[in-house]
Amino acid sequence: MKWNADFRSDTLTRPTEAMLDAMHQAPTGDDVFAEDPTTEAFQDRCAALFGHEAALFCPSGTMTNQIAINVHTRPGDEVICDRMAHIYNYEGGGIARNSGASVRLLHGDHGRFTWNDVATEINPADSHYARTSLVCVEDTCNRGGGAVWSLDSLREIKEGCIQTNMPLHLDGARCWNAMIARGNSRVPESQAWSDYGRLFDSISVCFSKGLGAPAGSVLIGSRAFIEEAHRVRKVFGGGMRQIGVLTAACNHALDVELPRLQEDHQHAQQLGAVLENLSRVKAVDPVETNIVIFEIHAGLTADQFVEWAQQAGISCFAFGPQRVRMVTHRDLSADQIAETCERLTTSVLNG
Ligand SMILES: *Cc1c(COP(=O)(O)O)cnc(C)c1O
Repeated sequence: MKWNADFRSDTLTRPTEAMLDAMHQAPTGDDVFAEDPTTEAFQDRCAALFGHEAALFCPSGTMTNQIAINVHTRPGDEVICDRMAHIYNYEGGGIARNSGASVRLLHGDHGRFTWNDVATEINPADSHYARTSLVCVEDTCNRGGGAVWSLDSLREIKEGCIQTNMPLHLDGARCWNAMIARGNSRVPESQAWSDYGRLFDSISVCFSKGLGAPAGSVLIGSRAFIEEAHRVRKVFGGGMRQIGVLTAACNHALDVELPRLQEDHQHAQQLGAVLENLSRVKAVDPVETNIVIFEIHAGLTADQFVEWAQQAGISCFAFGPQRVRMVTHRDLSADQIAETCERLTTSVLNG
């Protein structure tokens, strides 16, 4: 087989033998009757991990985000988020379609903004305007190149949301990477996780990215919030049955895969340093986690870059006319990273 290293996404990770074992051994029941013991225990674990009362397992991060938006808003309301946000760019227009809400976009720094940025965009309490009723942050921000938020800035936004009586939702699909990047949080269930989780009224997390589960996202919040979310999940067609096979995989991911994310971050650093010096690359966004986004020099398009990389056995992803994204993940070994760096340096991409 031809040599290939696939950097298109960390969603490409496949379940390990150990994960498949955990899935095989999971006790199951009908989750619609709240009788799947593996799922009940896993939801409780996720709620406690982030310092909240309750949690709800869903098939995808899009669904958990869209449910949260639906519960927090009424039709005609407005949601504030960054222009890089996944909820705005990559969820099929779901905010409008599912919840009848409009969006106010902020122009932050790689997807991160300040309370000041939010405050100036809140509509006056006047019937001419849409009611601003929700703020969403994304940590890490995917389109922002895996950018990590500072806790200070999140605390400030939380404080502002309390003052203005607005809920704060976290699209934390990649919060695992953010926690690892901020330092001391390789072990789940440490205080840092619940302190972080309590900054938000609702949290969506994903297990199918760097954590390597085949599917799964969890929505976290108060008991009252999750009760409403449960109803919306049903309406969105997300009620499921013997899902212990999935939640067992996610639970295993939390125990085994979370501490390993650090490796992906180191690999991304390595890759970023090589890209930085390629003649065809104009600039590399700051590499903070496992996502590397870079800009191609004029005269070459992102599509052409991707095609040439493919000829060298390296799969990546055009992320704009002049921008390319590469993502490191568990199924790319240290050897493959080293080989990739070598191939990039000696290829036409450095010509
Ligand atoms: C992957 C991702 C999601 C959810 O995507 P699904 O494919 O629906 O699970 C949401 N937000 C961010 C930031 C993501 O990276």
